[in-house]
Amino acid sequence: MTAPRTYPGPPVDLPLRLDGEPEPDADCDVCQALGEQRSEARTKGDMSRVSDCNVEIRNHPHKGRGRRS
Ligand SMILES: [Zn+2]
Repeated sequence: MTAPRTYPGPPVDLPLRLDGEPEPDADCDVCQALGEQRSEARTKGDMSRVSDCNVEIRNHPHKGRGRRS
C-alpha cells in the first residue's frame, strides 16, 4: 500500500483568456488547430508562439457566418 500523496497540480492547465486572448471559433477547423497549438506552446512556455497563435486566431476570416456584417 502506498502512502497517500498530495501532489501540487501541474501548472500547465492555465485557463484560457488570460490577456483577452481570442477564443478559437468552435466551428472552424483552422481556429481549433491554432487553439491546440496555442495551448501546446503555452505548456512549453513558448509565449511568442502563443501570441503568434493569438494573432492568427484573431485575424482568421470567417465568411458567411454572420458574425459581423
Ligand atoms: Zn477560423
